[in-house]
Amino acid sequence: MKRLKILRIVFSVAFAVLLTLALLSHDPQQASWLGWTCRLQLLPAVLSLSAGVCLFWLAVTLFIGRIYCSTVCPLGVIQDLFGRIGKMLRRNRDGSLRLYRYSQAENRLRYVILGVVVICIMAGQMFLPEIIDPYFVFANLIDNLSGAVSDSMLGEVVLPGALGIAISAVTLVTVSALAFKNGRTFCNTICPVGSSLSVVSRISLLKLEIDPDLCTNCGRCEQECKASCINAKAHTIDYSRCVLCMNCTAACNDHAIRFSATRKRLSTPLMQQINRKVPQMTAGRPQQAVDASSTASDTRRS
Ligand code: SF4
Ligand code: SF4
Ligand code: SF4
Repeated sequence: MKRLKILRIVFSVAFAVLLTLALLSHDPQQASWLGWTCRLQLLPAVLSLSAGVCLFWLAVTLFIGRIYCSTVCPLGVIQDLFGRIGKMLRRNRDGSLRLYRYSQAENRLRYVILGVVVICIMAGQMFLPEIIDPYFVFANLIDNLSGAVSDSMLGEVVLPGALGIAISAVTLVTVSALAFKNGRTFCNTICPVGSSLSVVSRISLLKLEIDPDLCTNCGRCEQECKASCINAKAHTIDYSRCVLCMNCTAACNDHAIRFSATRKRLSTPLMQQINRKVPQMTAGRPQQAVDASSTASDTRRS
């Protein structure tokens, strides 16, 4: 499963490079074959009422979850970079490496932010959406730095000049600092695109599942989960926050995490064995099935 992680990283970096080239491009010829990287971005698609792109991401997320966040989002790549640096440098007080840990979702905060962003868009007030949407932040910065404001191929840059650069830079520094400190915090508490996708990814058809029969409770997957959404002890994953980075599958030496359409339960739970109906043998042939626990208490009474 390490191959999936490598594939995911290679794809996301290549996509980010193409997207950057597209934003830097002043050449319409070049823009025509790179422009798809911009058109695949979710908020621009919503704002331009591009039903095809919106339905595409809805179907993909319903099928497999938030793969958008681990492949085509430019801020996802930047967060991964700073998260990796943070992982190497973060230390506990005793000097040991500080690894990721499961934490509860900040649902109230993220859906309040999403609600405010939706209201702003409906009211035509684009300032807030454009300073926290991942694509707009990235595009604003690149276009402003390259001087492509006037001929940006999709024409989304609405915060031109020094103000645009300053606002995008502040957002990028904040996002990077959060990633350095604790992985995908921005993705799971602030980003309106991530919050929208999380509503659908909860019910995706295919999900990463921990097989409790194979799991040895080593906890490595939880320590590698940049979204802090794996509870290794409980063998559960919060799919609303999972960004499909594949760190957990690469970390699990027991091959206990796989994509599945069904929830895997322990095949022989303890209580199931205790309360199981067991056939009683009388003179070499099975008699009626009786409950093992009641048999035990009957024996004690007699
Ligand atoms: S949650 Fe937002 S910032 Fe994070 S990867 Fe997804 S779209 Fe990008
Ligand atoms: S890494 Fe694998 S074996 Fe270890 S806790 Fe996670 S699922 Fe279980
Ligand atoms: S559960 Fe965590 S580590 Fe595994 S793919 Fe999702 S975000 Fe990545």
